[in-house]
Amino acid sequence: MGKGLKLPLNCRRCHSAPETLAHVMGTCSKNNGLINQRHNQVLDLVKKTAGRQKDPKANLQIEPTIKTASGNFRPDLLYVTEKEIHVIDVTCPIEGGQNMQDSRTGKLQKYEPLRQHLEETHGKKATVQTIVIGMLGAWDPENFTTLTSLDIPRHRQVTLARRSIEASIDGTRRIYATHVRKA
Ligand SMILES: [Zn+2]
Repeated sequence: MGKGLKLPLNCRRCHSAPETLAHVMGTCSKNNGLINQRHNQVLDLVKKTAGRQKDPKANLQIEPTIKTASGNFRPDLLYVTEKEIHVIDVTCPIEGGQNMQDSRTGKLQKYEPLRQHLEETHGKKATVQTIVIGMLGAWDPENFTTLTSLDIPRHRQVTLARRSIEASIDGTRRIYATHVRKA
């Protein structure tokens, strides 16, 4: 019985955390650029579809900066209709346990001060909604509620869901390939 071998298990690129899939594909500082790209590719699909389908009287804003008493907010999308305002954010967490639900709840909490601010300043109902797509392709069924709020018809929602899932998986594949190639 000897001392255990000390294997260098930390991340081969940032050396600051164990090299788990969750770290490599979700939080490694060296992969930030590609992690953002995955998010932006999903967002791009959503905003293009939403832009085409939107109510002519509604206003779709892309990554607006909004000042509030609780600081500045920059959600992915702001959709202002005649009766309501929807704050919408896209995120690609890793699947497993409560991660998908926690990501959604985290966004709702993060944007709650903005939601209140918008209700007060616009005098109409405001909601926070999310599009949560797992980095391995899981789809949060709540996403359909968000797509409906964006006035995207049901048949386009299914196509958009498939493409967004593909974009997330493809982004993850690219992150992993780059990660191991740059070792
Ligand atoms: Zn790392």
